[in-house]
Order: sequence, then structure tokens, then C-alpha cells
Amino acid sequence: GVTDANPLPGDWIGEMWGAGRRFGGCVIDGGRLYWFLCAKGPADGKDSDTRAALTRATAEFPDYVRQAVKDTPVSAIRRDDIRDRPPVTQWGRGRTTLLGDAAHPMTPNLGQGACQAIEDALALTDLITEYGPTSDALRRYERFRQPRANAVVKAAHQIGRIAHWSTPTGTRVRNTLVRLTPASVLVRQLRASWRLPQTTS
Ligand SMILES: Cc1cc2nc3c(=O)[nH]c(=O)nc-3n(C[C@H](O)[C@H](O)[C@H](O)COP(=O)(O)OP(=O)(O)OC[C@H]3O[C@@H](n4cnc5c(N)ncnc54)[C@H](O)[C@@H]3O)c2cc1C
Repeated sequence: GVTDANPLPGDWIGEMWGAGRRFGGCVIDGGRLYWFLCAKGPADGKDSDTRAALTRATAEFPDYVRQAVKDTPVSAIRRDDIRDRPPVTQWGRGRTTLLGDAAHPMTPNLGQGACQAIEDALALTDLITEYGPTSDALRRYERFRQPRANAVVKAAHQIGRIAHWSTPTGTRVRNTLVRLTPASVLVRQLRASWRLPQTTS
């Protein structure tokens, strides 16, 4: 959802993990709040009453989260299923290949779908520049990109599973582990995922 009202503290950006549900978001356009709420549900499910469904789904979150959701007009809320699939190792044949979500659809849990699509585009450009518009360049691109992109698909899936643990024991263990993880470990992981691999030999 997107709302003009932003009851969240300051320039808040982040995620809150509840029991089987997650709320997150950030400030956009210098003031509006973009938020998302992930919850388990049947595939292709629809809510007959969006407002009531959101009230139920945000019950465990702080007041300002409930307020943000309440302040968002239903017309500014979009509901989607989230899908991924196990990574595949054939992205193309002959003079065709794929990039982005077509090659490696992933859950948005790491915020990496578009990032990986951009990395694909850069690698493809580099390799076509070096090897010409040939099948060889496309196979080199696939060999270069698959280990990283497919690893991100798996990592995003795993994070989603953990983030959506819903039993009281599971959520307690998860929250304790997250709390005990030193910031330096998170920074190291972020650096690794944001470092742009070099394509050329
Ligand atoms: C809720 C959510 C949050 C996300 N958050 C992040 C984030 O924080 N960071 C991040 O990096 N990624 C994020 N992503 C993922 C990101 O949006 C996608 O990975 C990215 O858009 C993939 O780009 P793409 O070009 O491969 O595919 P798309 O963006 O899907 O582009 C494909 C385009 O092709 C068009 N098209 C389809 N079929 C045809 C056809 N037959 N003819 C012509 N055109 C066609 C479609 O209309 C579309 O415009 C998020 C995704 C979701 C759903």
C-alpha cells in the first residue's frame, strides 16, 4: 500500500516480523509511506473485505503500523500472490537467453529481484561486447550469472520460510537469534550481496 499519511517514526525503513506475518516499508517521494504486509494464505486467494483482513493481519503490530494501514485508501492497496520456483540451469538455447525474473523468479525477501536483473543486463552487455552477438557469449553469460542469481533465489526462499515461522517456540527462537546476530555479520552479508561481480576475464 501507499499512503500520504506516515505515522511511522521519522524516516523509518525496515521490517517487523510477527507470527507468520511481516510488515515492512519505507518513505518514498520525500513523505509518503510505501508498506507491505506478507501473510500466508491460499494461492490466488481474495479477501472479500480488504479492510477487515488487514485489521486482522496487523493485530499484533504496533499502533503506528495499524494506523498506517488504516490510513491507506483501499484503492491504494494491491494484493498479490508471491511465487518463486526452484532455480533452473537452462536459461536459453542457441541465440536466445533470458534475464531477470524470466530466468530466476525469486521471492522479494532480500529485495534482490530487480538488482539481479540489472546485474544480468550488465554481464550480458559486457560479454556481448567481448565475444560479439554470438551463442557463445550467451552461454558464457548464463555460466557466469547462474551461480550467483540462483544462490539468491535459494537464499530469498529460505529467509521467507524463517520470517514466516508462526509457532510460539519458532518465533521466540528466531527473534532471539536475530537479536543476537552481530551487526557486523549483517553488514558483511549486505556487502557481499551488493558487490558487483566482474565479468571480463
Ligand atoms: C512486492 C515486491 C517487492 C519487490 N521489491 C524489490 C526490491 O526491493 N528490490 C529489488 O531489487 N527487487 C524487488 N522486487 C522484484 C522486482 O520487481 C523484479 O525482480 C523485477 O521487476 C524483474 O524485472 P524484469 O525486467 O525481469 O521483469 P518485469 O519487471 O516483470 O518486466 C517484464 C515486462 O515485460 C512485459 N511483458 C510481459 N509479457 C510481454 C509480452 N508478451 N510482450 C511485451 N511485453 C511483455 C511486462 O508487462 C513487464 O513490463 C520486488 C517484487 C515484488 C513483487
